[in-house]
Order: sequence, then structure tokens, then C-alpha cells
Amino acid sequence: MSQVRVRFAPSPTGFFHIGSARTALFNWLYARHTGGVFILRVEDTDQARNSEEFLSLIYNSLRWLGLDWDEGPEAGGEFGPYRQSERAPVYAQFLERLKASGRTYEKDGALLFRISGEPQVIEDAIRGRVERTEEKDFVIVRSDGKPVFHFVNVVDDISMRVTHVIRGEDHLSNTSKHTELFKALGEPIPVYAHIPLILKQNGPGKMSKRDQGALVEEYQKRGFLPEALVNFLCLLGWSPKDDREKLPLAEIVRLFDLPGVNQSNARFDEKKLAHMNMVYLHEMVPERCFVLARDFLFARNFFPEGAPDEAYLREVIALCQPKVRAIEDLPGFIGYFFSDDFAIDPKAKEKVFAKGDPKGRLGELLTSIPTADFSSDAALEVLVQGLAAQHGAGTGDYIHPARLAVSGSGVGPSFYGLLRVLGRDRVAARIGRFLATA
Ligand code: GLU
Repeated sequence: MSQVRVRFAPSPTGFFHIGSARTALFNWLYARHTGGVFILRVEDTDQARNSEEFLSLIYNSLRWLGLDWDEGPEAGGEFGPYRQSERAPVYAQFLERLKASGRTYEKDGALLFRISGEPQVIEDAIRGRVERTEEKDFVIVRSDGKPVFHFVNVVDDISMRVTHVIRGEDHLSNTSKHTELFKALGEPIPVYAHIPLILKQNGPGKMSKRDQGALVEEYQKRGFLPEALVNFLCLLGWSPKDDREKLPLAEIVRLFDLPGVNQSNARFDEKKLAHMNMVYLHEMVPERCFVLARDFLFARNFFPEGAPDEAYLREVIALCQPKVRAIEDLPGFIGYFFSDDFAIDPKAKEKVFAKGDPKGRLGELLTSIPTADFSSDAALEVLVQGLAAQHGAGTGDYIHPARLAVSGSGVGPSFYGLLRVLGRDRVAARIGRFLATA
């Protein structure tokens, strides 16, 4: 068989949403699985509704997700241009061919296509055999001279040598028009694969751009990990047929195939996505987490007084990476690392003062700090264990008040890591202040 050529054909008339991303992804996966070509074709014929902003959002989101295209705008290719707004000469040429077939006629200034009226049967790679009969001739060039979607879509699939049309099920009802046109032009019909819909999280019906969690850009802004979103999107309609959910992309590429795509609709589940994102976050190499977190924090203007020391920020993020569910949780989690001006949680304070002699313990800890070894978590642990043994106390008698004193909170990252990263001077100053004021 000749090389697979698939295309993602968005119309830049709105924000880039989860459904479009999944269609792009399934095309990309199929191209990568087969060693084929992934084409990006911009269906920007609707001048009134298109915008360059929406288009750059599409490019940006595809790149963020890692869905690189082999042919298309900004990539080039021998079947371009890849924006329909630049392809008028191609449409004119195909229109001549269609006219020559004798299947067109004019009515009220528009050009219509005369259907065959025969049943149009496709063997859809996902849905199986689908039959539909067109009953009415349809417009292919409007009275204002603009060719309609059905015509340009088919012409481009022909002229870009598309072998497989993988698209949303909402286009299934258009397919009989398209096969009529392919046949009238004497061209082979591509393989169709209509992907089931994505249902909204709650309630019936298809997920729309207006639904909560529908826009890809939002996830990017919120610091989601693109590999987690890609993994999640793969599972919206496809599965590896075992119980695995988290799979490396290379493995998905190896396993993905069109007959493996479900026929039933998939339901969007934001909790599942958040969980997937957390699993990826916790497994990610610290340096990558640092880069993503740093960019996120700067984009949110988390350091209004200027950038912190990079090595310090790196340590803070490495310490907190296993403790947060998402990068977007970091701002609420790391504030006290960058400011001494943090509040003391009253509940945590009440708990700390409810038993033993927390101030006495803190005094002992403070005294030991000038000579303590802050170079590793283990050394700090040995220090606290030594104090506990010496004073007939438990390590918790030091840990809970000290955590409260240095961070204002009863919860947070690992205690010894917290001391190590904050460093001797901050720890001493904060314990001293706490003893004087609490
Ligand atoms: N431009 C169409 C859309 O945005 C694509 C149709 C197709 O993939 O054939 O849905």
C-alpha cells in the first residue's frame, strides 16, 4: 500500500478545544503509527468568522501538545499552499473538471451539483459499513462566487493525496455528499474513519467549546503537562485493551490503530485528567519540572519584586514537586519560601500548643542550629533525633513546632528537606521570631 497521508483540517473560527485536539491527535498517531504523513490544512474559507488569532492559537496548541505536522503552513510541502484561502486557482481548476462531467447547473446565481441519487456506502474504519443516500442536489459555488465547504474539502483531499479521512462523527452526515463528489470527479474515495463524540462531563450531549474544561489553551495557561493531556486525550475513544491508562507516547504510537477506536462516545472527565496530570508531574525529571514551574510562576507574576536566586528556586521546586497535585497549586504552596511575611495557621498553632512544651523544644533546636550540618536531610534528621534522645522527647515534639515556626503551616514538604532548603539563617531567624511572638 502507498504511504498513508492524513490531515487535520481545522477552521480557525473559535478557540481550540479538546475535541479538535483529539481529532488532530488521532490523525497524528495514525500517521506516526504507519510511517505516514500528517498534514495540517487550514479551512479558512469563512472570511467573516476566521481570525489570525484563532489560527495562531491552533498552531500554538498543536506545538504545545507535540503534534508536529509534516506538511502545512509554516512547514511547507509539495501540495501547498495549505490554507484554503490561498487555493482559489486549485478550486477553479477542479470546478472546470466538475463542469465538464456535466453534473453541474446554475440556479439563482449559484452553482449546484446534481447528485446521482444512488446509495452511498462507505466502509468506515471505525464504524463499519455506513450507508446514506443524498436526496437533494446541493450548492457547490454560492451566488457570491465562493465555493462551499463540501467542494473545497473534497478537492483538497484529492489534490493533497489524502488516503484516510479521520474526523469527528459530526461529519458523518456529510460523507455521502463527499463521496458523490469524488465519484463525479473520477477520483478514488479515501478511507473514512469517524471518531465518536466527546460527551460533556455532566448531563447528556456533546461537549462544546463553552463547556468547562473545553479549551486547550486553558490547560496550557494552568501549567498542565502536555504529555498528560495527550495521554488523557488518547483514552477518549481509544484504549490499549488492557487495564493500563498511563502509557508512554511511543507505546501508544506503536499500538494505535483505527479499528481499535471505540464506536461508543467517550465522556470527558476532568478529575481523571487532573489525576493523570498529577501522576505525570510526580514522575517527571526534576529539571523539567523546574523549567515548567519557573515559567508558570513568572507568567503569573509570582515574584513581583524580581526573580529569586535560581538555585534556591530549583531546590524549592524539587522539594515540593512530590507534594503538589499540579503546577498550578505551587503558588499556594511555596509562598513562605520567598517571604518572611507569612501567617501562622491558627488551627495548626492550637494543635502544637495543646501538648508538651513546644517553646522549650524550639529553644533547644535554636541553640543547636549554629553548629548544625544543613548539607543534607539525613544530617538534619540525625540532629533532631539526637536532641530528642538527649531531652527524653520524641522527634515529633521538635518537628511540629518547628514546621509551624518556619512555614506557618502544619503541612508541607518533607520536614528535613524544608529546613535544608530554607537554610540555616532563615530557620534560625524564624524560630527566634516565633519564640518571641507566638
Ligand atoms: N473544517 C472541518 C472542521 O473544522 C473539517 C472537516 C474534515 O475534517 O473533513 O470540522
